[in-house]
Amino acid sequence: MRIGIDIDNVLSNFNEVLLNDYINHDKELRNNGIIKNNVYIRKMFDWTKDEEQQYYHDNIERLANLLEPIKDSSKYIKKLRDSGHYICIISGRDNGEYSNPYNMTKKWLKKYDIQYDKLILTNAYNHQEKADICIENNIDIMIDDSINVCEKCIKNGINSWLFDTDYNKSESRFKRVNNWKEIYEYVIK
Ligand SMILES: [Mg+2]
Repeated sequence: MRIGIDIDNVLSNFNEVLLNDYINHDKELRNNGIIKNNVYIRKMFDWTKDEEQQYYHDNIERLANLLEPIKDSSKYIKKLRDSGHYICIISGRDNGEYSNPYNMTKKWLKKYDIQYDKLILTNAYNHQEKADICIENNIDIMIDDSINVCEKCIKNGINSWLFDTDYNKSESRFKRVNNWKEIYEYVIK
């Protein structure tokens, strides 16, 4: 099987790092804490749109260096490749937010021994692009935490599994996967 895998919140603990950092920065700002739950982290605080966008832009590269892998991802991806599955990592990091997203990502994957056959970066703000890449690369299953990406993939005939994360819990249209052991077992079946 040809498996497409997103990075942030599927292979990396992006949300955890972002939330911790935002909580700390909020304390320096006005210390009003989380004012809205059940929304994406970037909208949880009382920051103005400009404050948030500027802070995100100025800090996202630093935060990317703090990311750590999601539990067991390296182990089960290795097992999938050993069983003959093709691993195509498809991440939306080519979106103008990182100075050298390809090198940064390759280094990170190497550092945490996450093996793959192909790495493709798309623009995260264009969800259709991931679906197009899946079609071009004959991907059988795309695993992503983004509802928008799953939606586009399914519309384009690509089977898509939603990786569980805090802000996608209420979504029920897609097959949900909770961890890497579970993904491995589904694929092997
Ligand atoms: Mg993601």
